[in-house]
Amino acid sequence: MSATDTHQHYDGRAVIGGERREARSGASIPSVSPVTGGSIADLASLDAPDVAEAVSGAAAAFESGVWSRASADDRKATLFRIADALEKRSAEFARAETLSMGKPVSEASAVDVPGSVATFRWYAELIDKVAGEIPSTPPGSTALVSRVPLGVVGAITPWNYPLEIAAWKIAPALAAGNSVVLKPAETSSITALMLADIASEAGLPAHVLNVVTGPGRSTGDALVRDPRLDALTFTGSTATAKHLMVASGETGLRRLSLEAGGKSANLVFADVDDIRLAAEKAAFGAYYNQGEVCSANSTILVQREIVDEFLAAFRAAALEYRPADPLDPASTAGALVSERHADTVEAAIEEARAAGAQIEGGTRRSLGNSSAYIDPAIILGLPVGHRLHAHEIFGPVAAILPFDTEEEAIGIANRSGYGLAASVWTGSVSRAHRVSQRLVAGTVSVNTVDAIGLTTPFGGFKQSGFGRDLSVHALDNYTGLKTTWIQHG
Ligand code: ADP
Repeated sequence: MSATDTHQHYDGRAVIGGERREARSGASIPSVSPVTGGSIADLASLDAPDVAEAVSGAAAAFESGVWSRASADDRKATLFRIADALEKRSAEFARAETLSMGKPVSEASAVDVPGSVATFRWYAELIDKVAGEIPSTPPGSTALVSRVPLGVVGAITPWNYPLEIAAWKIAPALAAGNSVVLKPAETSSITALMLADIASEAGLPAHVLNVVTGPGRSTGDALVRDPRLDALTFTGSTATAKHLMVASGETGLRRLSLEAGGKSANLVFADVDDIRLAAEKAAFGAYYNQGEVCSANSTILVQREIVDEFLAAFRAAALEYRPADPLDPASTAGALVSERHADTVEAAIEEARAAGAQIEGGTRRSLGNSSAYIDPAIILGLPVGHRLHAHEIFGPVAAILPFDTEEEAIGIANRSGYGLAASVWTGSVSRAHRVSQRLVAGTVSVNTVDAIGLTTPFGGFKQSGFGRDLSVHALDNYTGLKTTWIQHG
């Protein structure tokens, strides 16, 4: 199939109680592929009564104990079966992900799907390895501190890693024994729906995982305002995260974990061991996934004495991220999520140009019936205080700024107001520690960019939100500590 073939059509109905369901109103919205330019699914657009039904079912399933009190062995086996089924259908999932949001199928196959499989396996393994505590209490008593599931977890996810971020939320929430109601991004819901089908086939009891589809402001809002949600986990923009805090607070108290935006800096010091490697990785950090990554290192600070050498290598590396047909396995960059989003990214590039910056690349392109493609852009000479240095563009756009001193670079890196990620390139161990300690970021990568793994927590500080995905710490989003104090004389 080429980029212009518009015949692929997926089931866009929601999953409630293990079954595919239309909205009660019958309303649906087209899921437009940025690859084909055509609709690839009619996405059910759920209203509050549909969402309430999903939450009721999830709450009843939790109460029943069918999953929440199932043995660790049973839960582990089910999550492994989900992982196995997903792995078996990886080509199908990778293709659906590419058609949904435009990333190259090579990346969806090599990163998104295997990453999601690994996430389910990792949390399956963790289920029976989390032990409680027996703290010191007065003689004649014993206290047990155990981690218990919270109940119904609402999860709201973005379109840049539709399957993988859904897995980051669902796997630990289910591993802990919760029921989940997931609201995927309306632009890219297909793989989350397919995942819920797989979970049913793998024997996950009905109502334990539901996927409610539709726009954020209606379907998402109904989910957030349902008082029966015991936890809400979110990945998306800072503006929505702020709104969710308010809407949640109006509804009641519940556990919140909100991974919001970012504007991450990559600091390249003149004492770096390998300038070419730093430049190649910097291009990856800025342009990977069309730059649609919340932890993208889109502000590149380069010590003045190596700017020319770095830029020459960076320009060459950027060429690797020129967009091409996302369905061609040889492509290394694809379409932005929508033509509308490409308009926004283009407008940001024009804003930088109007502010006197020099722009290299950044050309808008059409492929087949879609014009959601933008060449990697390099912005040079944008004044340090310009709004775009603190604004998440979420596209293939990197600004390069020279600096003179370590103090100056740290100051620029920390001024965005976000705190998700940062990178440091240096051959000095002392500088690596000194600078890392000062950078306000959930993850600081040293001599690499955007380091991430299943074993390490991912999330931010300040306007990047709070709560952590991945690692054992993700359980904090989905479990509470319970003390059972036994007085025995
Ligand atoms: P982006 O700007 O990257 O699309 P958003 O924060 O708008 O990020 O979207 C992330 C997720 O949040 C999506 O699933 C979207 O539907 C959902 N969402 C957006 N607005 C709301 C809202 N008001 N209430 C609940 N969910 C929302």
